[in-house]
Amino acid sequence: TKWVYGFGSQVNEGHAGMKALLGGKGANLAEMAGIGLPVPPGFTLTTDVCVAYYRDGRRYPDGLRTQVEDALAQVESQVGARFGDPSGPLLVSVRSGAQVSMPGMMDTVLNLGLNDETVRGLAVQSGDERFAWDSYRRFIQMYGSVVLGISHHLFEDVIEARKSALDLTEDTELSAADWREVVSFYQDIVRQETGQAFPQTPRDQLWGAIGAVFGSWMNPRAITYRRLHDIPAEWGTAVNVQAMVFGNMGEDCATGVCFTRDPSTGENVFYGEYLVNAQGEDVVAGIRTPQPMSEARAKPGEISMEKALPGAYAELLHVREMLEAHYRDMQDIEFTVQRNTLYMLQTRTGKRTAAAALRIAVDMAEAGQISHEEAILRVPPASLDQLLHPALDPEAERVRIARGLPASPGAASGALVFTAEEVEARALKGEDVILARVETSPEDVHGMHAARGVLTTRGGMTSHAAVVARGMGRVCVAGAGDIRIDYKAGTLTADGHVLRRGDWITLDGGTGEVFLGRVATVEPRLSGDFATLMGWADSVRRLGVRANAETPDDAATARRFGAEGIGLCRTEHMFFAPDRIGAVRRMILAPDAAGRRAALDDLMPFQRADFAALFRIMAGLPVTVRLLDPPLHEFLPHGDAELAEVARGLSLSLEEARARVAALSESNPMLGHRGCRLGVTAPEIYAMQVRAVLEAAVAVARETGEIVRPEIMIPLVGMETELAYTRGEAEKVAAGVEGLDGHVDYSIGTMIELPRAALTADRIAAHADFFSFGTNDLTQTVFGLSRDDAGSFLPTYVEKGLLPKDPFVSIDFEGVGEIVAIAARKGRQVKPTLKMGICGEHGGDPASIAFCEKIGLDYVSCSPYRVPVARLAAAQAAL
Ligand code: PEP
Ligand code: MG
Repeated sequence: TKWVYGFGSQVNEGHAGMKALLGGKGANLAEMAGIGLPVPPGFTLTTDVCVAYYRDGRRYPDGLRTQVEDALAQVESQVGARFGDPSGPLLVSVRSGAQVSMPGMMDTVLNLGLNDETVRGLAVQSGDERFAWDSYRRFIQMYGSVVLGISHHLFEDVIEARKSALDLTEDTELSAADWREVVSFYQDIVRQETGQAFPQTPRDQLWGAIGAVFGSWMNPRAITYRRLHDIPAEWGTAVNVQAMVFGNMGEDCATGVCFTRDPSTGENVFYGEYLVNAQGEDVVAGIRTPQPMSEARAKPGEISMEKALPGAYAELLHVREMLEAHYRDMQDIEFTVQRNTLYMLQTRTGKRTAAAALRIAVDMAEAGQISHEEAILRVPPASLDQLLHPALDPEAERVRIARGLPASPGAASGALVFTAEEVEARALKGEDVILARVETSPEDVHGMHAARGVLTTRGGMTSHAAVVARGMGRVCVAGAGDIRIDYKAGTLTADGHVLRRGDWITLDGGTGEVFLGRVATVEPRLSGDFATLMGWADSVRRLGVRANAETPDDAATARRFGAEGIGLCRTEHMFFAPDRIGAVRRMILAPDAAGRRAALDDLMPFQRADFAALFRIMAGLPVTVRLLDPPLHEFLPHGDAELAEVARGLSLSLEEARARVAALSESNPMLGHRGCRLGVTAPEIYAMQVRAVLEAAVAVARETGEIVRPEIMIPLVGMETELAYTRGEAEKVAAGVEGLDGHVDYSIGTMIELPRAALTADRIAAHADFFSFGTNDLTQTVFGLSRDDAGSFLPTYVEKGLLPKDPFVSIDFEGVGEIVAIAARKGRQVKPTLKMGICGEHGGDPASIAFCEKIGLDYVSCSPYRVPVARLAAAQAAL
């Protein structure tokens, strides 16, 4: 078996198509070498090695050692230096590289191959003794912490102590002798912490690092990450061993991280950061503040790479063009300049904000680099959410207290919190919180997720906080260097203001500004790239997209977002308004039909006006009005004062009213007297609603001259007889409504939200003009899982892997999905043209939308803000 693949200009055995075997990093290094880019030579131990290692009880497969030796010899001959040669050693980096980039695993060990002997050779070879000892201490520090598991603070404390003893502030001020001394302290630390001397044999070092990479595949952080992102453990990771190049050999050296386009806005400009005379991790670690790539982006006091290293910069611009032309997507690259020579260390598809994803997709399609279909597929539907949320109101008053980097756009306000744990605790209670840290690390990721926004005082646009926040769509201001955070005191100090834990602040991730308190926000603009991509999506999707809405505001938002009608108007939501709840209560508690009718007469004008407003906004589009659904107790009076008021209205004694309330109480209301069961026992209620719908439709049709399309929907039907009865009652009402002519195109249908309804959908279809799948109740009843109570235990099911996802969020294909498919099939058997949609929460979930496409539903209906998400998801499902 071939376990090891070489990459570089002379031996190059892989390519980008081999990510499963070589990991993303290894495959792309080979690909870059293959297209002639300057890649330091090296080799990749395949993911198969990792798989075999774990299969065989943590033993390497036969033949691996020989293959590594051969590959190492190839690298030695290409570089012209030997591994472990005291007079001029080959040094290597060792990095992990799974199929997809995966935080949580061992990352990088640099300068491997240094020991007490070779460090002197490096000094001679480089002509720089200080550089050599600095490299050695970096190696011991990285190897010590990532391979030997020694806390990196122990190492950092040594440097801090040294600097303060000498009254210095910068690492760069330490001399060769200082670093030599630091190395000797480091070796003491290793001896103390591990009971053994720091390994001096380069081959032992190499196998130690390789073992640490494979070992880290199974560490708890990596396992958690895989679980959260559905990455199978069987994939394994690869290991990349690569000849070192040095960005820290002097002022003609540099290292940097950049993007071929701006990852925040998507603008087609070369974007990134570099540091002169620095080694790899210095840029991301946020220890020194990185400088901009292009002169155009340099602020006063900054020195761009374009200016500092013009030759290497020009070469990099050329690389940028080659990479984009080759990969046809925005790339995230890492490079090093050693003595004015450029080397490429990594390329991968760049993570980007939703706004950038949109702009890049549209720009590339318009430039003919990709097709419209590819552009549609490039934007994750759920990420559109980020674009649809508010920005700071330009008119709003504000007090700016600091400015950092605009690391991830959007505006967010919340209570100031300093630990990820507290963010989670407060977010669980529904509080808006902002996580403020000096810098973030992988341990903070869960807190960043729960926060509205993230603020750091250190680090650049490629710092951990910035990259992670962009990926998850959190607002982020990074590297706000004028802010001081004191974790112990629980304070944040900026511009003379001392804020405490819990005080409110506002972040603008688009400008990098930080404001006191809560600043008002405005709705986003929906033109430009957004409209363009949505237009392309609309032209390929088959599924219709409607909104769940009952207020004029929501309906108007839905229209702005492109909804093609209302798929669910929950009429009970219209009953809570203060001007009508009294009549609702009288209707419920009335002792007889006459009393009920009197209350309903009071409600009727409100309902008619509500529906008319929706019909006007939807201007000719279908509006599905669902008749009253929930158990009546939800509307009951709270407390004696309210009860007394209702009793007065009904001329009942307080005692009689209380008895009525008691009689309505149910032990299992969600399975109780709700939905069409109310329509059966109290037909006056539905009669009023049907009349209100139809009279409003007639009025609006007359007023506008347009056709009005109400769809009257009966909820919680389980039996054909229930629908036959309620439909019959509705038709009787319709027969008495004047002016129902060709301008009112009304229909009567049902929700399919009970298993019995689904299984008898052929019979039910005989009485229905349409079906709308209520997958909230259907999930509840198919699983036998209360939708109101499941939140307390379902997360454990997902955590333990018993369920892949919360079935109330993403449809359960095997059970609930199957029953939906059966009902759809049975319904169509009887009525081939039966209109079918979905209006449960799943209507806005991309995976569920793909399912709806597959079984051929006609439309999905979701909350207004998810309408664009659904339009794009529907387009992707159709491609
Ligand atoms: C459903 O059950 O899926 C539905 C849309 O109705 P509701 O959520 O109002 O019960
Ligand atoms: Mg329901």
